[in-house]
Amino acid sequence: MSSSSFSYPTFLPKLSICSGNGFKCPNCGLGLVVLESTRTYSCENNHSFDLASEGYLNLHLAQHKRSRNPGDSNEMIRSRQRFLNAGYYQDLADSVIAQLTEVAGDKRLLDIGCGEGYYLDEIRQIYENLQLVGLDISKTAVRLAAKRKLNAQLAVDSAFKIPLFDNSIDTAISVFSPISAIETSRVLKPNGTLIMVGPGETHLSGLTAHIYDKTVAHKGNYDALDNSHEFILEKQIEIQNSLCIEGSGIADLLHMTPYYWHAKPQQQKHLKGLRQLETPVHFNVRVYKNLLKDSSSA
Ligand SMILES: [Zn+2]
Repeated sequence: MSSSSFSYPTFLPKLSICSGNGFKCPNCGLGLVVLESTRTYSCENNHSFDLASEGYLNLHLAQHKRSRNPGDSNEMIRSRQRFLNAGYYQDLADSVIAQLTEVAGDKRLLDIGCGEGYYLDEIRQIYENLQLVGLDISKTAVRLAAKRKLNAQLAVDSAFKIPLFDNSIDTAISVFSPISAIETSRVLKPNGTLIMVGPGETHLSGLTAHIYDKTVAHKGNYDALDNSHEFILEKQIEIQNSLCIEGSGIADLLHMTPYYWHAKPQQQKHLKGLRQLETPVHFNVRVYKNLLKDSSSA
């Protein structure tokens, strides 16, 4: 077999391991290692997964899927990528990065629900040596993230069944994404940090005013953490700003949110015809600590 120009990502282990910094086999939980001269990752039980040409692993087993293409729709993902790449949420990215005070050197950061990789990309530009791991349920999103050439470990799988070993992550982030307190705590090291971003009360109220008769304040998405025994809230940073969105950015914003499904056809048409849309953006950036785990229960 002739060797192609493909080079193995250096971040994926070639040695057999049952712990550490590789991915876990979604079938049996053993470590996945790459077989020499192939692009196939396999566990000791011979469950194997091919590395996609873009450089990610699809570990989401068909029997665990609730639909053929789980996660956000392709249109949602591509709209979000255009909108984020335009820099509209730069303040949020900067705020998340500002909370990464304890990450340095060879620390490992997981983005749970990484989407098309915007936040990982922003983090990589500041922390070049950080080991980045991205996970999303949408294959389209992970493929787009891989195309950003993040030098990150990227996998398609659920946030409720993270294919990583216990205590293998120093810091996790979750931006507008579903999260499991138990799974996130499991993969985080004791005392590890979780940065979670959700909507503040007035988030995108300039957009929703065109869709709903009365504005309903966001309640945030913290219930999974605030009612958990795994995490304790250390601080919350509020970001409030006003955005002026222009041209096709308005359609992208509409399509990247669930509001699109609530908007009547004439409301969609009206919004897409606007030259500018002014709206508040309101984010809560919450920093949690993973509580020390009871090793006797492991
Ligand atoms: Zn296996």
